[in-house]
Amino acid sequence: MTLHSESTATGIDFATDYVSTIDGKAATSPTTVEVYNPATGKVIASVPVTTRAQLDEAVAAARQAFHGWAATPPAEREALVSALGDRLAEHAEEFMTLLTREQGKPRAGAEWEVLGSVAWFHEIAKQSLPEETLLDTAERRVVTRCTPVGVVGAIVPWNFPILLAVWKIAPALVAGCTIVVKPSPFTPLCDLKLVELMQDLLPPGVLSAVSGDDDLGRWMTTHPGIDKIAFTGSSETGKHVMASAAGTLKRLTLELGGNDPAIVLPDVDPEKVAPALFWAAFQNNAQFCNAAKRVYVHEDVYDAVRDALVDYARTVKVGDGAEPETQLGPIQNEPQFRKVREFFDDCRKHGHVFALGGEIGDGPGWFVPVTLVDNPPEDSRLVVEEPFGPILPLLKWSDEDDVIRRANDTPYGLGASVWGRDLDAVERIGRRIDAGTVWLNEVHQYAPDQVFGGHKESGIGAENSVHGLAEYTNWQTITLNKAPDAV
Ligand code: NAD
Repeated sequence: MTLHSESTATGIDFATDYVSTIDGKAATSPTTVEVYNPATGKVIASVPVTTRAQLDEAVAAARQAFHGWAATPPAEREALVSALGDRLAEHAEEFMTLLTREQGKPRAGAEWEVLGSVAWFHEIAKQSLPEETLLDTAERRVVTRCTPVGVVGAIVPWNFPILLAVWKIAPALVAGCTIVVKPSPFTPLCDLKLVELMQDLLPPGVLSAVSGDDDLGRWMTTHPGIDKIAFTGSSETGKHVMASAAGTLKRLTLELGGNDPAIVLPDVDPEKVAPALFWAAFQNNAQFCNAAKRVYVHEDVYDAVRDALVDYARTVKVGDGAEPETQLGPIQNEPQFRKVREFFDDCRKHGHVFALGGEIGDGPGWFVPVTLVDNPPEDSRLVVEEPFGPILPLLKWSDEDDVIRRANDTPYGLGASVWGRDLDAVERIGRRIDAGTVWLNEVHQYAPDQVFGGHKESGIGAENSVHGLAEYTNWQTITLNKAPDAV
């Protein structure tokens, strides 16, 4: 489907007019910034650069809306959040097309993200945090409950712009918070349209979106009117967010970077495991916090798995996500493209062996070939850092304790996967990995009721499940002395 420029039934034009939404109304700004299609390198739109005064307005409106929204019966809030999912579903086609245009991901990835976001709205809407009565006697009652934290500032990255916004919007609204969303400056279009599209379903100020640059993120993290920051992005930025938020002791959820190991046991069938390993590493063109970023293959099957991966990778079509046969798109933005290129240069400089790929073309578009690096040293930049692009080190192992030590020898602890037919061994190894999610003989399985978060420098707190929902609340204990003559 192509983007149409006429308005839809909800009056939203997906092809143009990208605006912030402040206090339920569309807002433009004195300056704008351009947004590019990463497959062509061409400008596709421009979006407002929200001023500090406009952020103040959005936060004031969110504060104003908070008391009414928090007092709305939970069942009513849940029904409205579910209705947001219905609204997104009605426009799924437009969002998939727009997502491919601004983010670069092919149709299958756009479908996964948009339909996943619909499911998230629907499923998070079924979650609740009931009060707990700890004691209820003739003399006393003690109750613990969760009260909404207030105004949330959501800061979103560019790799899954819709899904990672919805992972914040849905639980914040269910919990009774109001929320101001800041998309990544590289992928603001879907998020701005998403929030605009929801306005007639919600009271003004409950859900706002402000587009802008990193400065806007900084202003949000110090803003006295924002009670909590829900942030997804790099570990480096996460540390800045935490430091800035300290001044006002904001609540924080930080979903940060990863350097996920995949450990392959000697009993695998190389031909069977290769496609699964390939997609574990290269899904979303490896611009994935949970991409397998280091693949440790047992020495007995190392050559066979490497060769099967090379053969499989040669069958995968890289190109413009808008073309139906494309399986992997471009790097999403130019700074990231330059960063990924540094990993290629570093490999070449240190004489690492490319099993596949290694040469970046001249464009147009920020394309990088699928690249496999054959057993580089454990301390090479490619193994230690998060490239966030399609260049993957394959590493040999022989001793179980040693491979577990190497897998854990990183400041990151986001995810991991273990692959093998001996299920006892697979689970034994998996349970010793220090990461928020460990997948065994599968990967990238997420669910709204499955807690998600990082250990170590991969994050603080969690998203999804009732644990993620609880992060939008404060605990409150209420005790009552019932004795009539107590006071
Ligand atoms: P980034 O940290 O550069 O930016 C993320 C967001 O923070 C953007 O909206 C950006 O404008 C904003 N920002 C930048 N500087 C800021 C500051 N000083 N204060 C406040 N906000 C600021 O990350 P990115 O490049 O957009 O995303 C890629 C990174 O995100 C990777 O490291 C990836 O692993 C991580 N990520 C983590 C998860 C997870 O759930 N753990 C999911 C997706 C991506």
